[in-house]
Amino acid sequence: MTDDIGHRPEDIPGIEDAHASGGVRRRPVTIVRGAGARLWDDTGKEYIDCASAHGWTNVGHCHPDVVSAIEQQARCLMALNESAYNDKRAQWYSTLAGILDNQFGTTDRGALSRIHACNSGAEAVEAALKFARFYTGRTQFVAFGGGFHGRTFGALSVTSTRRYREPFDPLVPGVTHVPFNDAEAVAAAVTDDTAGVIVEIIQGEGGVREANAEFIGEVQRICRERGALFIVDEIQTGFGRTGRWFACQHVGAEPDIVVLAKALGGGLPMGAAVWRSGLGQFETGLHGSTFGAAPLACAASIASMRVLERDALPERADALGKRVHEELRSCVSTPDQPTIVREVRGRGLMIGVELRRSVTPVLRALVDAGVWALPAGKNVLRLMPPLVITEEELSRAVGLVIAALRGA
Ligand SMILES: *Cc1c(COP(=O)(O)O)cnc(C)c1O
Repeated sequence: MTDDIGHRPEDIPGIEDAHASGGVRRRPVTIVRGAGARLWDDTGKEYIDCASAHGWTNVGHCHPDVVSAIEQQARCLMALNESAYNDKRAQWYSTLAGILDNQFGTTDRGALSRIHACNSGAEAVEAALKFARFYTGRTQFVAFGGGFHGRTFGALSVTSTRRYREPFDPLVPGVTHVPFNDAEAVAAAVTDDTAGVIVEIIQGEGGVREANAEFIGEVQRICRERGALFIVDEIQTGFGRTGRWFACQHVGAEPDIVVLAKALGGGLPMGAAVWRSGLGQFETGLHGSTFGAAPLACAASIASMRVLERDALPERADALGKRVHEELRSCVSTPDQPTIVREVRGRGLMIGVELRRSVTPVLRALVDAGVWALPAGKNVLRLMPPLVITEEELSRAVGLVIAALRGA
């Protein structure tokens, strides 16, 4: 069998390797189909998805509600930029703002209801940084060790990973990185020139590391006191992933700006920077995006937010996550039972298993066993299944993970 340009299926990796930009390494598997928490490769082998495309598919692959919303909207209107009003965009704004209002409430700066729509996490971070500079008239930012915010120049400048940054120096100037969970370092770094402080409540790429509530409280207080905006990156943690709608709720954070992407799109590309209404708006012409809040993306996003709400998926992530934690804890090293597992971390269905050695062989064994999981740095195994994963799928996956950890 050949496809319409004459390639045989076994050529797929060859074609991709010949053309890919090289920035991301692939596993030697060709995934061709997904449904819920399952993926299939081109040989028909099935995988339990414990990655959700890096936290993108919280409602699972090809959720029927999302598929039908996309189908309907595709027949009606797919593409429109912000030069006209649109029914789907209006519905999306109010659905998202409604959820944010329910979850975050109102501060003296208003509700999280001013929304810049874009198409990725990095773009959402760019918008947040630009807005913080515009609003404060200041130029500096404070970010954290272990933080990841994307790979465009602004987002990369607040990301901490040296290996990602160094080849691209000089980056955007004026960013100070301080140790995560170190409030004193924040107090020393935030000045009258600081436009904003950007933080993840649970660092994803940085190894599933959680900020503690006192630290976040201090960061927030210091920002208020010195006139810097408090920016929380919920790109990976948002939309139920950690067992609450947003990770901020675990620590009582009241950000001035939240950045969203990944699961926001319900399976299509979408990002958003959302700030408090009292902070005002950009001046006309100062920011924009052709594809932002396209009707097609809005339709998928609305459908996926409704599924999260109707099926109480954040609560489900909380309940399932607690069980997974309990089961995985049996693998943690103790004096009388040494294992390769140092610690199990995270919340809800964002789970990090820190190993005493490289995670690569474990991930390889899991692919063979039919579990699609993720690393988070060199020695952390990251499990982020779709929140719709069935109990049976999840316990099978956890059983296979435990077997792979014991066998490693
Ligand atoms: C994935 C991610 C980003 C970047 O999102 P892209 O869509 O890949 O640009 C930023 N911040 C966090 C916390 C992320 O997990």
